[in-house]
Amino acid sequence: MDGHGDHPLMLHDIKDGLEGDEFIFHYQPKISFMTGRIIGAESLLRWRRGSTFIQPGAFIPLAEKTGFITVITERMLPKFIADVTIDDEHLRDLSFAFNISSHDLRVPGFRSQVEEIFGSGRLGEGKIIFEMTESTLVDMSYQSIQMMHDLHKMGVRLSLDDFGTGYSSLEVLSTFPFSSLKLDKSLVNHMCAGNQVTVGKGNKIVNSNIRMAQRLGMRVVAEGIEDSCTYKKLLYSGCHQGQGFYMSRPLPLDELIALVRSGKRWEGKPIGLVYQAQVDHIQWRKDMMELFYHLRNNDIPEGIEEDQEFKEMLGDHTECNLGRWYYSDGRDYLDYKAYREIEAYHKELHETGRSLLGRVIADRFDDQLFGLLERLNALSGEMIRLLQDLENDVHRSTAVAGPA
Ligand code: C2E
Ligand code: MG
Ligand code: MG
Repeated sequence: MDGHGDHPLMLHDIKDGLEGDEFIFHYQPKISFMTGRIIGAESLLRWRRGSTFIQPGAFIPLAEKTGFITVITERMLPKFIADVTIDDEHLRDLSFAFNISSHDLRVPGFRSQVEEIFGSGRLGEGKIIFEMTESTLVDMSYQSIQMMHDLHKMGVRLSLDDFGTGYSSLEVLSTFPFSSLKLDKSLVNHMCAGNQVTVGKGNKIVNSNIRMAQRLGMRVVAEGIEDSCTYKKLLYSGCHQGQGFYMSRPLPLDELIALVRSGKRWEGKPIGLVYQAQVDHIQWRKDMMELFYHLRNNDIPEGIEEDQEFKEMLGDHTECNLGRWYYSDGRDYLDYKAYREIEAYHKELHETGRSLLGRVIADRFDDQLFGLLERLNALSGEMIRLLQDLENDVHRSTAVAGPA
């Protein structure tokens, strides 16, 4: 039985439910680990039958299997948009996620529907996120992938849901325009629960996945956070946002609004991204030196011009991983002296790196080249020192970042 009277749910039950307007959304808040505040929410379908709610686990799998999910999406997307655009100042700055299925991308009507909703640009960029489960991404057609790119152009952000439950191939991570990745609860749950060995490994797996996503320029959301131990660990991990019963269960829209209005805050410590910035810098220097020695030995890897890391080496200080952090999330540290000092060193670091590579390409192994190498290392040392000063200052200040 699937939580519905005394017979298992059939497709015609779902159709009747949809006709009878029995589906609504509950919204589960997403918390920013930087501020501890609610910065968005995920819509989750609930089927209201009398006084009970049927959970998606009881009908989504059947809807997915039969393709009926596309009818549900078509009917529920306008309801979702109506919910999240109601005129309430507390919702204005939040982003909202809607779960779609890869079946949806194949339906011509879906394209016209989203074009109508998003084409005008009325909903700001990033206001709406479409979440897609990784296991549904196999056998995507060219048209479906194109559709994902078109959604991105319309300002919809895509999120790879349930990461860690399937096998996210290189193709999924590199071809599809996902802006964020949601770590599945089965991974997150292992950060605190279990024996010493599984907990230790669970933490390493979660942290490596966060690092991987960061390197790919994706934001990371951890789902299924059920206790304060997991929450605290994630604060330091470089994960951007969290979602889970520990903070809040999915709520009816009016309760979500009341929660946002109450100003409720959880712990926030924008320290994880400072650690990631340190690793980003070490990684950048390692890549730079690797390239330097390759070029010096005339041992240039094939196709290097197309390599993202190579491009980052030649780009300026706003284009590398650290630069992207600095000019986006990093802005929260503007009141810290160490943060402000980073910019000039970082800019010079990239200029020095470019000059260095230019000289080695031109085969000029002279004193100037070795001078540049020394300068690069001195700047690199300064960068690490400043990032560590920033780390200490952020730690010293309260959970809510204040000036150093
Ligand atoms: P999902 O998109 O991964 O959503 C997260 C699920 O985890 C939700 O289950 C949520 O209630 C649950 N959850 C959140 N925090 C915790 C926690 O701390 N611990 C545990 N154990 N669970 C937590 P829910 O609402 O039952 O939804 C299940 C799945 O059904 C969703 O997984 C999504 O794949 C699908 N779904 C839900 N709504 C829709 C929809 O509107 N359209 C489509 N296509 N799929 C939907
Ligand atoms: Mg989801
Ligand atoms: Mg999920």
